[in-house]
Amino acid sequence: MQKALILFRSEDIDVSAREFMSTYASYMQEVGIVGKEPNGHVVFPSKTAPVEEGYAEFFDEWVTLSEALEIHTAVSMDLYTDAWFARDPKYQTMTASGQLMPHQICPNREEFWEYGAEIVKELGAYPIDEILLFGVGFIRDEFCFCDRCRKEFAPLVDQEPARLTHAYLTENPDYHDKWHEWRTEKVLQGLRVLQSAADSLIGAE
Ligand SMILES: [Zn+2]
Repeated sequence: MQKALILFRSEDIDVSAREFMSTYASYMQEVGIVGKEPNGHVVFPSKTAPVEEGYAEFFDEWVTLSEALEIHTAVSMDLYTDAWFARDPKYQTMTASGQLMPHQICPNREEFWEYGAEIVKELGAYPIDEILLFGVGFIRDEFCFCDRCRKEFAPLVDQEPARLTHAYLTENPDYHDKWHEWRTEKVLQGLRVLQSAADSLIGAE
């Protein structure tokens, strides 16, 4: 049977972490808690990301207890869905017709990878076993057509950045393949930055 990891949000639990754990811990081998929400806020004290007030104590108690009880503990992070970071439109991902996605970051942004890496390092201060990342890729095939992505990708398919369209890519299977390869490489580059942040913590132990 496949194990299901249950992911909780602090705001959905209306008792203390201690009370919750004392009731359910014996049923749990592993458990997850949301650490960074789609609104960009985190539920633990942070010098990097905005903090969802009122959950720091809960989070601390939750991860401390689940470690003490030897429950595999995961913390989730929404990555590219980040309404707070995306308040600056220059980071927002864009459709081919120029429509910005107000809560969604373009995955081709080193600054954002570094930002995510700082959050990973902050999470590393807690006794957790795993960080689950959500929303790590481009949202759909039609993304991203922001200025930066156009400028980088268009020359690879012999096109002017301003004239690059999604149809131009889908009409030519080679170009479409290149689009996928290029995007995959961007996603991997971003993940490598987060991975090396996580590795640096393991090395520091
Ligand atoms: Zn982009």
